Amino acid sequence: MRTTPATRLARRSGRGLRPHGFAFRLAGCALCVCLAAVLAGTIAQANLIWVANGVLLAYLLLAPRRLWPAYLGAGLLGYIAGAIIVHTPWQVSLVDTPFDLLEAFLGALLLRRRSAQLPRFTQIKYVLRFIAFAVLVAPLTAGFLAALVLSFWQHTAFFRSFIEWVAADSLGVCVVTPACIAIFRARIFHSLGSGRIWAHLLPLAAVTFVVLCQAKAPLPFVLYPLLILILLRLGRGWAATATLFVGAVGIWYTVHGEGPFAAAVSLSRLQPAIILQIFIVSAMVMLLSVSDVIENLLSTDRKLQEIAALHKLVTENSRDIIIVADFEGHRSLVSAAGATWSGWSQEEMLQLHSLALVHPTDQPMMSQTISELRAGKDDALVECRVRNHDGSYVWVEASLRTIRDPRTGAPTGILNTVREITKRKLAEQQLAEAYHAVEALAITDALTGLANRRRFDQYLTTEWRRGMRERSPLSLVLIDADQFKSYNDTYGHLRGDNCLKQIAEAIQDVVSRPGDLVARFGGEEFAVVLPNTHAPGALHVAEEICAVMRNRELPHSSNPVGVVTISAGCATLVPQLGQHAPSLIDCADQALYGAKRNGRNGACAYPPGAAHKSAAAIGPDLIALKSA
Ligand code: GH3
Ligand code: MG
Ligand code: MG
Repeated sequence: MRTTPATRLARRSGRGLRPHGFAFRLAGCALCVCLAAVLAGTIAQANLIWVANGVLLAYLLLAPRRLWPAYLGAGLLGYIAGAIIVHTPWQVSLVDTPFDLLEAFLGALLLRRRSAQLPRFTQIKYVLRFIAFAVLVAPLTAGFLAALVLSFWQHTAFFRSFIEWVAADSLGVCVVTPACIAIFRARIFHSLGSGRIWAHLLPLAAVTFVVLCQAKAPLPFVLYPLLILILLRLGRGWAATATLFVGAVGIWYTVHGEGPFAAAVSLSRLQPAIILQIFIVSAMVMLLSVSDVIENLLSTDRKLQEIAALHKLVTENSRDIIIVADFEGHRSLVSAAGATWSGWSQEEMLQLHSLALVHPTDQPMMSQTISELRAGKDDALVECRVRNHDGSYVWVEASLRTIRDPRTGAPTGILNTVREITKRKLAEQQLAEAYHAVEALAITDALTGLANRRRFDQYLTTEWRRGMRERSPLSLVLIDADQFKSYNDTYGHLRGDNCLKQIAEAIQDVVSRPGDLVARFGGEEFAVVLPNTHAPGALHVAEEICAVMRNRELPHSSNPVGVVTISAGCATLVPQLGQHAPSLIDCADQALYGAKRNGRNGACAYPPGAAHKSAAAIGPDLIALKSA
C-alpha cells in the first residue's frame, strides 16, 4: 500500500496498529503469548519471570477496547498452546490461565481510562500509573486470587504461591510490556531486510553469547554500551528487541546453571535469579530513560526547525527589511526584502556599515538615536533618507529595538525594521503644502493680495500686546479712497476693483519695514499697522501714501482733483492696561474723518499735538496735514 501523508502522520503520532490485517494480528498475539509461555515454562522451576501476561497487556494497550474480547481469546489460545508444549499439568493450567487473563485485562482496564488513550512511556505520569496498576495492583490481585484457589484446591502454601506469582508477573510486565509496545510501534519487522540492522544485531548476539555462556570473566556490563548504540542507531524498537534477546539468553544460561549469574551462589538459591532480574530491569530502565532524552531532544529539534521555517517565511516575505546589528554598526542579519526596493543584495547589505547608506544630513540624528539605545532606551522610531543602489535617496521609517543579553539584560545590539515611506512622505508634504495654502488663503484678500481683515485683527492684537509689554508706541493708518462711489458709477465696478489694486500697490510702495502690515480693512478702505512707530513717523507714512497715489495720476473725472486720491487718518498710542486694540482703530477713524472734512487728498493725525511740526490745526482735537 502506498504511504499517504495521513498514514505517515498517524504512524508518527502513534495511533497504534494499522486498521487492516486484524486476523494477522490476532494470530500474532496468540503466537507471541504462546512463545512467551513456552519460554517462561522452560524455566518455571526458577520462577524467574512470567512474560506472557506482559505480551498480552501490550496488545490490549494498543488495541481499541471493543477488540479486547478478541485479543483475550487469542491470548487464551496462546496460553493453552504454551501449556501443551511445555507439558504443564492440566490442574495448574486450569488455575493459572484464567488468572493470567484476568491480570492482563485488569492492568489494561485500569491504565486505559479512555478508549483512545495510548501508552506514553515518555511521560513520567504514565510510567507511574503503569507501575501502580499494571506492575503492582493487577499482579497482586490475580496472584492473591490464584494463591487462594491453589491453597484450597491443591493445598499449596498460600504465601509462597502468592509471592512467586507476584514477583514473576510484575517483573515480566515491567520488562516486556514497554518493550513489546516499542517493538510493535516501531514496526521493526518491516526493516528486517536492511543490512544495517544485521550489522548491529549480529555483533550484539555474538557478544551476548560470549559474555553470558561463561562465568570466568564477569562481563555482562559490556552489553550496556552495545544496547545504547543500537538505540541510537536503530531506534527504540530494535533496542527493546535486543534487550529481550539478551534477557532470554541470560535466563537460559542461568536456569542451566551456567554463566555469570549462576555463579553467584554464595548467599541463597534465589540469588542468581535476583541478580539476573536486576540486570534485565536495569537494561530496560536505561533504554527507556535514554530514549526519553532522545525523544525530548528530537522534539526540541523539530520545534526549532518549525520556528526557523516560520522565521524564514516572515522575513523573506516581508516588504520591510529586518536588520540585526551591533552598536558598532556591524550587521549580523539582513532579511531578503532589501533587494525588492533598495536594489542592494542581501550580501551587499550585510557588508555595509549601519550608517553607510544614511543621508549625510540625517547621520547625526541616527548616531544620537543609536547612542540613546546603547545607554538603555528600549526603542525608537525615526524617519531618515537612505541611499538606493542606483544612488537615489528614499525616505524610510526605521523602527529600532534594543536587543538585550537574556542573562544580564545588558544592551548588545539593535533590531531594525526598515520600511520604505517615500510615497507616504510625499503625501504628507503635499498635505502640508495644501494646509499652508489654505492657511494663507484664509488670511489673504483675494482682490488685492494684501492681508485680509481677519489677519489685520490678529496682527493688531498681537502688536498691541507687544506694545504693552515693551511700552512702545503702536501706530495705525486708516486709508479711504476719495469719492469712490462716483468712481464706480463713472467707470464701472470692474475698473473700480482695478483701482483698488492700484491703491494697494501704492501703499505697499511706501510701507517697507518688516514689522509693518498692510491690510484691506473693508470695501475701499485700507489699514497699515506700524509697530514701534511714533506719531510723526506714522503721519509721514500717511502723507507719503497719499502723495504716491496722487502721483500715479489715475483719471477720476468726478473727483475735483481729476485723479484718484485717498485720505488717511493716523493714530498712535502706547498701549496701556485697561485699553484695547479697537480703541486705536477708533482714534485712526476719527483722524480719517478729520481728513475727509479737511477736503480729502491728505492725512490727519490723532491725538492733537502728536503731529508733524508743520501740521496745521483743522479741528479742536485733530491735527491735519493737507498735502499739496
Ligand atoms: P468719500 O470720499 O467720502 O469716502 O466718498 P466715497 O464715495 O468713497 O464714499 P464711501 O467711502 O462711503 O464709498 C464706499 C464705496 O466704495 C461704495 C462702493 O461703491 C465702493 N466700494 C466698496 N468696496 C468696493 C469694491 O470692492 N470694489 C469696488 N469697485 N467698489 C467698492
Ligand atoms: Mg469708505
Ligand atoms: Mg471713500
